[in-house]
Amino acid sequence: MLPDLPFDIAHVLIDGTWRATAQTLPLTNPSTGEEIGRIARASTADVDAAVDAARGALDGAWGAMTAAERGRILARIGQLVLENVETLTQLEALDVGKPLKQARADAIALARYCEFYGGAADKVHGATIPYLDGYTVYTLREPHGVTGHIVPWNYPMQIIGRSVGAALAMGNACVLKPAEDACLTALAFADIALRAGLPAGALNVVPGLGSEAGAALTAHPGVNHLSFTGSVGTGVAVQTAAARNVVPVTLELGGKSPQIVFDDADLDAALPFLVNAGLQNAGQTCSASSRILVQKGVAETVMSRMAEAYRAKVVGPATDDRDIGPLISAVQKSRVEAFLDQGADLPVLARAQLAEGLPEGGSYVQPTLFGPVPASHVLAQDEIFGPVQVVIVFETEAEALAIANGTDYGLVASVWTRDGARQMRLARKLRSGQVFLNNYGAGGGVELPFGGTGKSGHGREKGFEALYGFSTLKTVAAYHG
Ligand code: NAD
Repeated sequence: MLPDLPFDIAHVLIDGTWRATAQTLPLTNPSTGEEIGRIARASTADVDAAVDAARGALDGAWGAMTAAERGRILARIGQLVLENVETLTQLEALDVGKPLKQARADAIALARYCEFYGGAADKVHGATIPYLDGYTVYTLREPHGVTGHIVPWNYPMQIIGRSVGAALAMGNACVLKPAEDACLTALAFADIALRAGLPAGALNVVPGLGSEAGAALTAHPGVNHLSFTGSVGTGVAVQTAAARNVVPVTLELGGKSPQIVFDDADLDAALPFLVNAGLQNAGQTCSASSRILVQKGVAETVMSRMAEAYRAKVVGPATDDRDIGPLISAVQKSRVEAFLDQGADLPVLARAQLAEGLPEGGSYVQPTLFGPVPASHVLAQDEIFGPVQVVIVFETEAEALAIANGTDYGLVASVWTRDGARQMRLARKLRSGQVFLNNYGAGGGVELPFGGTGKSGHGREKGFEALYGFSTLKTVAAYHG
C-alpha cells in the first residue's frame, strides 16, 4: 500500500504546479507483480512546458539568487529529506523492490548529496590569469542554463541527488525525467524541494516513457546540458540527439567491474566486499562487482568462502527486508534468466536461497555464483545487471591486469593485496573511473568523483568535480592600459 502523500502520483510537476497528463502508465510492485496505481505519462507538450518553466525560473527568482542562497535552500532540502526518510524508504521499497535497509541507505544518501552540494554552492570560483601588460583577465563559472536529467530505476534517489543536487548548486534549472519503472521518490523529492523553498520552475519532473518524454527532452533545443544514467544503447541515442543541438552530455553507463584478489590479500577483510558488491540491490548496480579475479594460490579458498556466503543469503519481498529483493520487473527477470541460460555450461559454485512462499508474480531470480569461468565467456564480458557473479582464476599480475582491462567497460575496480608497490602500479594501469585499494565502494561516496571510461561513459558526477561539469567557464579579458 502506498503511504499518504501530499501530491498525486499520476501528476507531473511543472512550474511549481502539479498537473494531470492526458495519459497514464501502470505502476507495478516488483515484489508481488501487482499494479499499485497509475503514474503520469508525460507527452512532448508536457516536456515543452517543463523546459519553458525552467527557462522562466532562470529569468526569474531562481536566476537572481546568490550562490549562498541556493546553498541554503539545498541544505534545507537535505534536512527535509532526513525528516522524511521513512516515507521515502517505503516508496522506494514498493516501487523498486529494494529491501528496506537499502532503500533507507539511499534516502540518507540523497540527504547527504543535498548537504554536500548545499555547502559547496558558494565555494566554486574562477581564476585570475596573468596575461599581456595592461590587461586583467579572469574566469567566471556560470550555469549551463536548463539541464535535462534522465534517470534509471535502479538508484533513483542517489542519482537524483548527485545530478540534480550539483546542477541546482550551480544555478541551473532542471527538468527531471525519472524511469517509467520507478518515479515515486523523484516526485516526493520535488515535493520536498518545493516545501523547502525552491522557487517554482527550478525543478520540474516529467515521468513517462523513454521513447516519448525522454526522447523529447534530449531533442529539445531549449535544453543546454544533458545528464544521462542508464544503458549503453540509450546513452548512444541521448548523445546523438544532444549532438544535433551541440549540447554537452554526461553519460553514466554500465560496467563489468572487477575485484582482483592476490595470494597475499587479507581474505577476511575482502570476503564481505567480494560478495556484497555483487549482490547489493540484486546486482542491479552500475558499479556492481560482477567479476572476481582470484590468484591461483587462494582460488580454492576464495571460491569456497564466497560459496558459503552465497548459501547464507536469502531473497525475499522488499518489505520483509531480507538480504536481496526482487528484480525491478518481469522484463529484467527474463533478461537475467537469458544470461543464466547462456551459463548452463559453466560450473556453479553456489546459489543463494529463495525465501519460502514468495509471491507468485514477483520478479525473483536465484542469485548465482559461477567459477572458475574463462575470461572470454559472455557471462564474464557482458553486463548482466542481476545477482550473478563469475570467478576468474589468474596466475600473474600481468595476466590479472589484462583480464581486468579486457572488457568494453571501465567504471570501478578494486585490488586486494598487502604489496604497496603492486597497489600503486595497478591503480595507475587499471582502465577505470574509480580504483579502490583493499576496499570496494559500489556506488557509495557522495564526495568521490564518479564516472567511466570506454563504454561506461564519460563526464564525472559526485564530489566537487560534478560542479565543474554542471557549469561552463567564461573568460573575461579587460584592457585598461
Ligand atoms: P535505460 O537506458 O533503459 O533507461 C534509463 C533512462 O533512460 C530511463 O529514464 C528511460 O526512460 C530513459 N530512456 C529510454 N529510452 C530513451 C530515449 N530514447 N531517449 C531518452 N531517454 C530514454 O536503462 P535502465 O534499464 O533503466 O537502467 C539500467 C542501465 O543503467 C544499466 O545498463 C546500468 O549499468 C546503467 N546504470 C548506470 C549507472 C552509472 O552511474 N554509470 C547508474 C545506474 C544505472
